[in-house]
Amino acid sequence: MTYDVIVIGAGPAGCAAAAECAGQGLSTLCIEEHGTIGYPVQCAGLLSNSAFAECRVSERPVLTRVSGARVVSGLGSEVLIDAKTPKAVVADRGSLDREMAEAAANSGAEFLLKTAAYGIRGTTLLTRGVHGHAEIPFSAPHCSRWSPEYNCPFLPYAPCKDVPCRYPGRSIP
Ligand SMILES: Cc1cc2nc3c(=O)[nH]c(=O)nc-3n(C[C@H](O)[C@H](O)[C@H](O)COP(=O)(O)OP(=O)(O)OC[C@H]3O[C@@H](n4cnc5c(N)ncnc54)[C@H](O)[C@@H]3O)c2cc1C
Repeated sequence: MTYDVIVIGAGPAGCAAAAECAGQGLSTLCIEEHGTIGYPVQCAGLLSNSAFAECRVSERPVLTRVSGARVVSGLGSEVLIDAKTPKAVVADRGSLDREMAEAAANSGAEFLLKTAAYGIRGTTLLTRGVHGHAEIPFSAPHCSRWSPEYNCPFLPYAPCKDVPCRYPGRSIP
């Protein structure tokens, strides 16, 4: 099978990319080196309301909402910040990542766990993992690197078809 798009890493960015590509009708594979999506958790889970909204998940991962902060100095003085309304959420990253992966899978993306990418040869992604070494072809001959012309932060390997980006206004740093 030759995939239009192979996404490396099933974190929030990878899952969003996979969902977007699969939703556009591209055959999409997302590979993840760990055996479980969202684990191990290496994040405190504090997300601004807008960042959380961009994840397009349910309220399930929300552990609590944050409307202020108490900043304590080493000398014991403190500053209280009260925004009155919730400005951020603390999310359970494991649950958030899994819900995003589920959305990508529902859009048609395939997932391959316990598989790590270690290189690209031409239009083939080189991987090693639970299935041993594998070479997975993808169909983006002229795009085996970040493609600024797509102006999209979620497409490190631009597909060979012209795909309109749903994230206007974003630019690649
Ligand atoms: C201790 C800590 C606390 C943090 N706290 C916060 C916080 O409170 N709020 C906040 O907004 N951000 C926080 N962050 C940052 C946040 O975790 C990242 O910004 C976010 O996870 C980035 O998402 P991502 O999808 O780009 O990458 P990741 O979530 O890192 O996902 C990348 C995925 O790719 C996989 N992968 C990597 N290389 C390969 C490969 N070669 N082959 C296959 N799979 C691969 C990894 O296993 C991983 O699952 C924190 C980070 C740390 C370390």
